[in-house]
Amino acid sequence: MTEDNNDQVTNSSRSKSFPISVFFLLVMMFPFLNLGYNPPTIPILGFHGIVDAKRVNTKSKFRQSSQLDMDYTKQEMEKLLEYFIKHDYWFLTTQDLYDYFLTKSKEIPYAYRNKQTIMLTFDDGYKTVYTNLLPILSKLENKYGKKIKVVLFISPGTLANDDGIPATHLRCQELRDGWKKGFFDIQSHGDKHKNLTEISEQQIVSELLLARIKLRKCLDDLDPEQKVASHLAYPYGAANKTVAKYVAKYYLSGYLYNDKLLNYTCLKDNYKIPRLMVNSTKSSQELIAMIQDFPTDTQESFKKGICK
Ligand SMILES: [Zn+2]
Repeated sequence: MTEDNNDQVTNSSRSKSFPISVFFLLVMMFPFLNLGYNPPTIPILGFHGIVDAKRVNTKSKFRQSSQLDMDYTKQEMEKLLEYFIKHDYWFLTTQDLYDYFLTKSKEIPYAYRNKQTIMLTFDDGYKTVYTNLLPILSKLENKYGKKIKVVLFISPGTLANDDGIPATHLRCQELRDGWKKGFFDIQSHGDKHKNLTEISEQQIVSELLLARIKLRKCLDDLDPEQKVASHLAYPYGAANKTVAKYVAKYYLSGYLYNDKLLNYTCLKDNYKIPRLMVNSTKSSQELIAMIQDFPTDTQESFKKGICK
């Protein structure tokens, strides 16, 4: 008690003579104190369909063989996800990245401080995300008691429906199911997956707005806070100044597909979030080795050209 009182009384005079060396020591120790330090590098992986390895060599029932290069096998995916779970990774949603890292408008909850982060994104809304990925997410949740969040960048104009769009793509009902189970973060990929750099400004607006309206309509009652379709991944990763101008009107952030790494401490533009492309040529082990090799501090990120 007495000591506390003394502290209060002498606090102001002490702070004036606070030695500068102690200040620098504290600054140097900052990353090691549990004050909200998370590694500055966040791998954002970009996947498409998830296929069964046993069927890849035969002819895929759903996909053209030329498209198989873009896919990832469910067997390797399970190994990868299991690694992230065992190493206690924080699976970021697009809103998490925006709130806690890009804008820092929210303080990182205590339980998530010092955690390694990862964002897993799946573009184009392939049916196999429901038939092959979702069962793995459920299985791992039952096994480890941890929920994996994945981001789906969806073009609602290409969703399967009863009007003849083939069953290679997801239906609204399946998006709802994955959302209800807490696995899916559903975001926009333009309405009909048009290259936004090759269409008129009027068409850009239509692609951006229709995607948002349709996705929010699909998830309407499940999404009172309207988190759906607040962020956008550019179809084909294609963006320019005009596109970015319109995207900024309707979305909070924009994701590229450029095989680059995100260091959020040096990202200057929230509409140029880099993502790493992943396809079947990289095994889960190779991917993990790559991620372990990423710079863990900003200085190194500058050296490696991630920060400029
Ligand atoms: Zn796409």
